Amino acid sequence: MPELRLKSQHKSSPAVSPPPGTGTGKPLSVTDLRKTYSGVTAVDTVSMEIAGGEFVTFLGSSGSGKTTTLMMIAGFCEPDSGSIVVGGRDVTRLAPQKRGLGFVFQQYLLFPHMSVWENVAFPLQLRGVPKAELRRRVGETLEIAGLSAMARRRPRELSGGQQQRVALCRALVYRPPVILMDEPLGALDKKLRDQLQTEIKRIQQELGLTVIYVTHDQEEALVLSDRIAVMRDGRIDQFDTPRELFERPRTPFVADFLGAANFLPGTVQQRPGDGAQTLVRLDTGGLLKARPQAGAEGARVRAAVQPGRLRLCTPGDGFCTGTVETVTYVGTLVRVTVRPAGDADTGLVRLELPAGRAPVIGEQVSLAADPDDVSVFAVEGGG
Ligand code: ADP
Ligand code: MG
Repeated sequence: MPELRLKSQHKSSPAVSPPPGTGTGKPLSVTDLRKTYSGVTAVDTVSMEIAGGEFVTFLGSSGSGKTTTLMMIAGFCEPDSGSIVVGGRDVTRLAPQKRGLGFVFQQYLLFPHMSVWENVAFPLQLRGVPKAELRRRVGETLEIAGLSAMARRRPRELSGGQQQRVALCRALVYRPPVILMDEPLGALDKKLRDQLQTEIKRIQQELGLTVIYVTHDQEEALVLSDRIAVMRDGRIDQFDTPRELFERPRTPFVADFLGAANFLPGTVQQRPGDGAQTLVRLDTGGLLKARPQAGAEGARVRAAVQPGRLRLCTPGDGFCTGTVETVTYVGTLVRVTVRPAGDADTGLVRLELPAGRAPVIGEQVSLAADPDDVSVFAVEGGG
């Protein structure tokens, strides 16, 4: 594991609960990072500014460049161009062990012959931290992660989730200015993952850590992150808060990847004279009001609405009518699909409604949406 090569870089530890902005975490900035592998672009001019104490996630499907970006920040992969600055210091040309960053990977390689305590103490021993302070810091870190009672056990005497927590402790114990995590919970089952997500978030907030986290799981990204960089084909499509990504997706990809949006084809009917709304004449015939967005009169567009932002309304008030095809109860929610009338190519419209509002299969319904929840995207090529 990369950590094993880390050499002495002794920093004193801060108080356990720092006020906001004064924690361990340093800011990090990445400018125009690029990496190609024999002609294939893995990462294409990625730039971002991350604040100290911020929890940032790279979210994207497999092959989108998440790991390569993280490895360049870590120093295990040399960028073709671009720069990386941690806490005001340019580390682009520094060896990994000189960057002082912490890592947690999916494969938590603990030393099998060492106890939990010894595993966690190891990075401090490498750094020559004096015994008394080492004891205090290991104890404190195990305490934070809820592992104090297991300090004497060997890794094989722990569950997968506990082992991953030990790996987390090993990264936390020397208080790195930035911790990088690549799908650290990927090997665990859902229940454990949920539990550890909560724990990682709590520890991050308690210590004011800067974390860059990689996942392909939207829900995980939403639960953990202050901001999410949605990656596609080696680029960041959008870097924003979870809420902005939901409410103001800047590309159809983001609308679809985060919210599984409905895409309704149509034509911009008029530029909003007063700037209040963009009007889209849907191919199904109805008029859909969207928040003001670019789009010339007559432009072909796709209007995107999240299933949870659609509602049923009285006939005549909506933008579309149709027939209910499926109704599926998911806890307190019900998922409904509607076959819209008027255009065979529009496809099914998906809704998520409170279970108490469920229609029945075969019912004729009208659909409505708040203009503020409707994003409009130009159709490439105008067709
Ligand atoms: P992710 O972590 O999002 O799944 P990666 O950063 O691992 O994506 O990979 C991005 C792209 O770069 C992929 O197309 C992958 O095949 C390619 N790639 C990654 N590492 C290498 C490598 N060492 N050699 C060649 N191609 C690579
Ligand atoms: Mg990866």
